[in-house]
Amino acid sequence: MTTQLTNLLDFDPAQLAAYCAGLGEKPFRAKQLQRWIHQFGASDFDEMSDLAKSLREKLKAGATIAAPAIISDHTSADGTRKWLLDVGQGNAVETVFIPEENRGTLCISTQAGCAVNCRFCSTGKQGFSRNLTVAEIIGQLWMAEFELRRSKGIEPGPKGERQITNVVMMGMGEPLLNFEPTVTALKLMLDDNAYGLSRRRVTVSTSGVVPMIDKLSQDCPVALAVSLHASNDALRDGLVPLNRKYPLVELMASCLRYLEYAPRDFITFEYCMLDGVNDTDEHARELVALVRNGAMPVPCKFNLIPFNPFPESGLKRSNNARIKAFAQVLMDAGIVTTVRKTRGDDIDAACGQLAGEVQDRTKVQERMQKMVEYQKKFGPGFGRIVEVRK
Ligand code: SAH
Ligand code: SF4
Repeated sequence: MTTQLTNLLDFDPAQLAAYCAGLGEKPFRAKQLQRWIHQFGASDFDEMSDLAKSLREKLKAGATIAAPAIISDHTSADGTRKWLLDVGQGNAVETVFIPEENRGTLCISTQAGCAVNCRFCSTGKQGFSRNLTVAEIIGQLWMAEFELRRSKGIEPGPKGERQITNVVMMGMGEPLLNFEPTVTALKLMLDDNAYGLSRRRVTVSTSGVVPMIDKLSQDCPVALAVSLHASNDALRDGLVPLNRKYPLVELMASCLRYLEYAPRDFITFEYCMLDGVNDTDEHARELVALVRNGAMPVPCKFNLIPFNPFPESGLKRSNNARIKAFAQVLMDAGIVTTVRKTRGDDIDAACGQLAGEVQDRTKVQERMQKMVEYQKKFGPGFGRIVEVRK
């Protein structure tokens, strides 16, 4: 008979303490264990030299530390690194690391597929498969931080230089429709005995699940990005179907309520630039009116995302001159506006491309089967290809 091992990556600090208490251990042992897991990236209990041998034996008998298996690992010419991760039953999700001068940002996924089905998003086009577990969400940060350190020869632990300084939940899925696991993972990101990230450096991006924006403000307020993409309800209804349930006036009101608890004093509005759909000066002026002139102005910044086309979308990216002119209207109104650089284009790691390799389920399944065969033959490290294209 095989016993199901408890995956310790599923536990927030309180749950890990409760688990340790169940083994007859004091709370400080849970802290030590948590540091081994989340600060040293340990997955082998025997490495945990300051835990008593008896505790290590108990842990070995009942627990495991397991993140999703890596299917592929690519590094782009600009340093962007993308992992495709196996989350079972033919599902795969992606995690992307984006290095910049003074920070390293990890973009993580919260669901396999997405039920919101925005018109311009290839994840949405895949449909919804399932929610990720806590271990699968925090496991992306755990895996990426320590993989990055290993490839650079940086020691694990608090003394080694931290590679990931910022986390954005902008990968596959709608984080606020997988609320509890997302919040548990957020708590670990913020915990001093885990990753110790400040609330300002962790961003949840949402298509606008209004009740859950309120709940997030109470349970774990972090920086908030809202995917707006449209300046009026008629347009947004067609681009982000969730708008029919939570129209703009309700969304704006929830943003204002959120700001009372948020670690930053603005909301970031994301706006995907779609040629001839939402990108005229008139749309920009309507946006200014929406966030400024309404009954309740919302302190905000805009992040314009050049649309990343994919074959079935039937949509095109606005040209650079249009994006610039659009940004100018917002900036002339005094709204801080940035245009997102597309990163990792050569490895399909740009926004909304994250499903690229996942769309064809049979292809992924074939690849994973092959990988298992190869790993049996050549050892578990096989297939962790790191491609650096110059
Ligand atoms: N579901 C959440 C978070 C994941 S999507 C949300 O919608 O906010 C992260 C961001 O990528 C969102 O702003 C989304 O609108 C944007 N995005 C999706 N598909 C895109 C595409 N093809 N091109 C550019 N941005 C895209
Ligand atoms: Fe889901 Fe976000 Fe894509 Fe919309 S943009 S389908 S909410 S992942």
